Order: sequence, then C-alpha cells, then structure tokens
Amino acid sequence: TSNVSRESETPRDRLIGGLLTADFDEGSCLSRYQQSLLYRKASPYKPSEYLVSKLRSYEKLHKRCGPGTDAYKKATEILGHDDENYASKSVGECRYIVWVAVYGLGNRILTLASVFLYALLTERVVLVDQSKDISDLFCEPFPGTSWLLPLEFPLMKQIDGYNKGYSRCYGTMLNNQAINSTLIPPHLYLHILHDSRDNDKMFFCQKDQSLVDKVPWLIVKANVYFVPSLWLNPTFQTELMKLFPQKEAVFHHLARYLFHPTNQVWGLITRSYNAYLSRADETLGIQIRVFSDRAGYFQHVMDQVVACTRRENLLPEPAAQEEPKVNISRSQKLKAVLVTSLYPEYSETLKNMYWERPSSTGEIIEVYQPSGERVQQTDKKLHDQKALAEMYLLSLTDKIVTSARSTFGYVAHSLGGLKPWLLYQPTGPTAPDPPCIQSTSMDPCHLTPPSHGCEPEWGTNSGKVVPFVRHCEDRGNDGLKLF
Ligand code: GDP
Repeated sequence: TSNVSRESETPRDRLIGGLLTADFDEGSCLSRYQQSLLYRKASPYKPSEYLVSKLRSYEKLHKRCGPGTDAYKKATEILGHDDENYASKSVGECRYIVWVAVYGLGNRILTLASVFLYALLTERVVLVDQSKDISDLFCEPFPGTSWLLPLEFPLMKQIDGYNKGYSRCYGTMLNNQAINSTLIPPHLYLHILHDSRDNDKMFFCQKDQSLVDKVPWLIVKANVYFVPSLWLNPTFQTELMKLFPQKEAVFHHLARYLFHPTNQVWGLITRSYNAYLSRADETLGIQIRVFSDRAGYFQHVMDQVVACTRRENLLPEPAAQEEPKVNISRSQKLKAVLVTSLYPEYSETLKNMYWERPSSTGEIIEVYQPSGERVQQTDKKLHDQKALAEMYLLSLTDKIVTSARSTFGYVAHSLGGLKPWLLYQPTGPTAPDPPCIQSTSMDPCHLTPPSHGCEPEWGTNSGKVVPFVRHCEDRGNDGLKLF
C-alpha cells in the first residue's frame, strides 16, 4: 500500500522518531502524519527509546482498561458506593485519572499533557472530559480505543461542582485528617489551580503519592502546567530522567504525541500556512496577550513589541526616508510575520509601519494575523478551533515572541521546539525596559507551583531543590520551569 512505501522512504520522519504509532488510519486524522512530513522542520530534540517504549506500553494499557472494556465497567461499579474503606476490598486491575476541561485552551492543553505524564509515571489510564468541545479540536491519540470519558460516567453530574471545599478534595482531606493508609476512598478530587492551598500541593510529595497511588479514581481540575513539580519528587525524577534525557523537551514530545488537530482544524492551519507562510524565506511569530481588566490595543504594548523585535534583531528598522532604488533586485528576502492576538490593531499597526516606509535591510516584510476575535469565547467551537489553529501556526515559525505568563504562548513555542523571546508583563502604562528576554529553555512554566518543599525540607525555596528546575524568566521568583 502507499502507506508502506512512504514509510520505507522516510520512516523516522513520519513517526517522529517513533513517537507516533503507525497503527492509525491516515485519512481520519490528516495532521497526525502530515505534520512532520510536510510542515514541521526536523526537531533537534529526539524522543528517547525509553519514552517510545513507555508510550507503546501505555497504548496497550489504555486498550485493556479504556471505555467499553470489562475492566472499565468493573472499576466504575465501585464508584456507586462511596465507601471509605475501599482499600480493604479488591482493587480492580486498572486505575484511572480523569481530566476535566476548565479555563482557556492553552491552560487545557498544558494540563492535559501534565495529567498524561502523571498517568505514564503511575500507570494510570487517562480519560478526558468530553462535555466541552475537546473532540472538535483533537483526534484520538491512542489506537484502537478512546480517551473520551463516557458521558454516563457515574460521577459525571457532580464533577462540575468539585472545588476546594469538596469533602473528597485531597487538600481538604489532609486538612481534616480524613485520609491515611487505612482510609482510602474510591475517588479523590485533585485541585491543581492558581488558588490551590499548600495542602493541595502536598500531592506532589513522595509520601503523599504512596497514598494517592492506592485510590482507583482521580479526578483533576487544573489550570497550570505541573510537570516541573513532578521532577521534585525523587521517585518520579529517576524515571523522568530516563524518559526525558533532554529535560526541557518534555512538553515538546508529549504535545506532538498527544495533540493532533482534527481535519477541520487542520484545514484552518494548512490553508493559512500555505497562503501566508510557506513561501517566506524566514518566518517570525508574535503572540500578543494582554492581561488587563480593560484589555485591548495599547500603545505601550505596541511600543514594547517594536522595541523587542528591533533590539533582538528579529525585525528590521524602517528606513529613515525613502531611498530611490536604482538596482531593482528580484531576490529580495521575504520575511513573513504571523501575529496572533485577540485584537487586530496590533498587526494593522505593524503592517502599516512596513508599508509606509521601506525596511532598512531591504527585506520584504509581510504581516499577517489570522483572526482578531476581540473577546475570549472559550467553548464556542469555531472560536476554540481558531485558537488552536493559531497556536499551531505559531509553532511552525522559525522564531517566536510570546507574552509572559500566557499558556497560549507556552503551548505555541514549546510545541514548535522554540526558545521564545518573552515579552515581560507591563506593570503600568509604559513598555517594560528591557522589553523582552530570550528564554534559555522551551518548556512551559509552572505558574503558582508549590512554594514549599515536602516535610524534611519544609520551607525550602522550590526553585533551589534541583539544579534543572528553576524559577521562570517571566515570573520573577514565582513559577518553576525545566532547564
Ligand atoms: P492564556 O489565558 O493566555 O494563558 O491562554 P488560554 O488559551 O488558556 O486562554 C486564552 C483564550 O483567549 C484562548 O484560548 C482563546 O480562546 C482566546 N485568545 C487569546 N489570545 C488569542 C489569540 O491570539 N488568538 C485567538 N484565536 N484566540 C486567543
């Protein structure tokens, strides 16, 4: 078949060094095999053999335990009676972790990757809340099964209301001393959000993991990329070192394994790419996220973008005046600038700048912004599809400028294997000076991580526990990131 012959030509490219399984039908999800063959440059980061073998065993596990299997049926039965003494009864052969869709799409992508990695490390099966539009965005990642949590899941109706106050929330159970090795509930709710308490964050500690491990069902609401904190746990760290010898490539690999845009989104991506980016000699992505009550177009943000791109030689200076060109050259370099923002004014201003005056280098600057949605409309299908398409398009650029603490930006640069220039978050109505900094690592930042250690070193600065988990460049002394 054509599959086989293409595979023998470039087998490693199509499957990204074995990251992807060959077991999928190509047409049902074009992005899966086309991304690396047609659109992405070969990544300098190669998945380890160990990661590849771990993914293949995960796929087997998911098939054995996934929706529709006897194991799944058996495991859901125990959820009916909320018996605290569950540990004394027989635990089925499969344990699960349910990811619940909350917050914006960037948040969702980062947390789903984090939950999946936790599942890999603890041999759980990850199931995905499909009450939102996740299946309009992504193809199934595991062959011969589904990652969608069946709608008739017994706790489905309650999940929406789970919060810090819920009696099965891990932090709350710790507060109430309601969990110990003889009191193991059939399900636990994990609250890994910006407002998590110290006790919620004890989840990452070794001792706590030995308890959590016994609980058959975990249900997670998260809006932060919590992978860096997993590395602080010595048990996980040993395994993570083997899985990811290049530490900063965690999300880069997981994202290319898990997140394959549906054919509809792939259409948005490829049409944009072919029309505006594919012919350029060089491409630059600029993601402009404004976090402010009165968000919109701000002159100081525009000034900051211009200052950053000039200072870092990402875009040329417009020339002082029109210079008559006597020798018309046909070989002028074309630089395509992909701007993404909720506000179309940013790209319009940039576009005008290079229309009204020539660039000092003679490069042709083409500025393009696919959408300008103005307001965030999470859970509206086409809005979310456009957001995903834009994150993905940004990831295909050669160099990238992103906004500090934006998960949208984190997904874009990390998926693309790019070390971003991070635009500092303005603290007032002026552009920060310096305007941006180039990150030395492409992995996303864990915002609001545990600020404390686990018991023995309680109070230690979590950015100083291991040398390669440090504070993020765009968050001062907050935030943890793999370097
Ligand atoms: P964060 O808030 O920057 O961390 O990123 P999220 O993706 O979690 O939430 C922001 C949401 O606002 C996105 O998911 C989109 O719905 C919308 N949004 C923000 N910036 C853009 C953009 O540049 N393009 C598009 N299409 N949507 C955006």
